[in-house]
Amino acid sequence: MSDTPIRRSRLVVLAGPTAVGKGTVAAEVRRTHPEVWISVSATTRAPRPGEENGVHYWFVSDEEFDRMVAEDDLLEWAVVHKAARYGTPRQPVDLALASGHPAMLEIDLQGARQVRETMPDALFVFLAPPSWEELERRLVGRGTETEEERARRLATAEVEMAAETEFDVTIVNHEVHDAAEQLVALMEQTPTDL
Ligand code: 5GP
Repeated sequence: MSDTPIRRSRLVVLAGPTAVGKGTVAAEVRRTHPEVWISVSATTRAPRPGEENGVHYWFVSDEEFDRMVAEDDLLEWAVVHKAARYGTPRQPVDLALASGHPAMLEIDLQGARQVRETMPDALFVFLAPPSWEELERRLVGRGTETEEERARRLATAEVEMAAETEFDVTIVNHEVHDAAEQLVALMEQTPTDL
């Protein structure tokens, strides 16, 4: 038996502009690479059809979220789309890293900035759209929103795209499976002795 200590793995943080497909890429990693540990966030938003507590999110009340913040249980948290709070439970991340598993968070830009402050050794990956036109198409979708809403979404996306320079690596989301494979390849390349 080897008594080599388990090597603590490096955290990978996946972020990017709204509608770029972060959730879809994370779901593809989950499907094709079960060895990768992906954080399950807590959120105050209501579950959508098909979403399961503890699988897609931990669905919690406002009071429970307040408690997690007060007790410093969250590694980061943010209000997303001015609608609900989302946060990363700290302890499961620590356990996954300590056990040497490749570990990943899929969070918004505000959350990624907070993790950068507390865990600067993590690998920060920006998921970019193939082009601005493609992001615009995904953002404005069916075109059912008002002109004002459309302008607001595009203005937000422009600011979000400018955050790319804050990241260590960019993956372009041309195709979901490819993007997921590139992400996993990065995880495998980056074990460190932290
Ligand atoms: P949705 O409600 O569509 O599942 O997710 C909305 C947004 O919340 C996505 O941009 C996703 O990246 C972000 N998000 C999900 N979990 C977390 C989290 O734990 N922390 C932060 N900061 N953002 C999150």
